[in-house]
Amino acid sequence: MSFIKSLGELIFPVRCLGCGALGLEICSLCRKFWQPRIYRTLSRKKPYFPIYSAIPYSPIAGKVLLAAKENGIQQADQLIVSALSHSLSLCIKEQGAGFLVPIPSRKSVARLRGRQFIAELTREISYGAQVPSFEVLTHTRLVKDQSKLDAKHRAENLAGALVSMRFQSGKAIIVDDLVTTGATLHEAARALHAKGIEVLAAVTACVAEPLR
Ligand SMILES: [Zn+2]
Repeated sequence: MSFIKSLGELIFPVRCLGCGALGLEICSLCRKFWQPRIYRTLSRKKPYFPIYSAIPYSPIAGKVLLAAKENGIQQADQLIVSALSHSLSLCIKEQGAGFLVPIPSRKSVARLRGRQFIAELTREISYGAQVPSFEVLTHTRLVKDQSKLDAKHRAENLAGALVSMRFQSGKAIIVDDLVTTGATLHEAARALHAKGIEVLAAVTACVAEPLR
C-alpha cells in the first residue's frame, strides 16, 4: 500500500495547495494562513443568528477553496472539513445541537463539478459531530455567480432564490464554505423560516470582508 502511495507521489507529486511548493498538501508558510481559530459574526438582518467561521479569507485560503470546488482535490476537501468541524464544535457548545443544512450549489455548477460540494462536506462533518444533515434547500430560479458582486447586488441576485423543500422539526445550522456579505446565509434563513424552521446559527470554513 505504501509502495503504491509512493509510486503515486512519484507520478503525481504532492504540491502545496497554496503556493505549489513540492512536499506537503499545505506547506508551513501557507499553513499560517490556514490555522483554524474562531471568528464570530452576527447576521446583519432579521432573523438574527450567529455565524461561526474558522479561517480569515486570504489569497491562500481562496486557492484551497478553489482547489476543492473546481478541481475536487481531496486534500483541499479535508482542509475545509477540518475548518468546518472546528466552527461547528464551538457552535454546538455555545448554541446547542441542531441539524445541518448545506447551501446548495447552483444546478449548472453542480452538474459541471459532478457533485454538490457543500452537501458532500456537510455529510462528513455531520458524521464527525453526530448531528444529522438534511439537504432541504434548493434553488427556485437561476442566480448569477456572485463572487464579483457587491453587497447590494448579491442581495438582489439571491432574493427569493432558495426554497426549503419540506418542514423539518428541530433547529437548523446552515453550512457554507465562505461568508462574505451574508447574503447567501440570509436567503437560506429566509427560506427555512418560510417553512417554519428555526435557524440556530450558521457555520462556515472562511470569513471574508465584503466588497463595498
Ligand atoms: Zn505553500
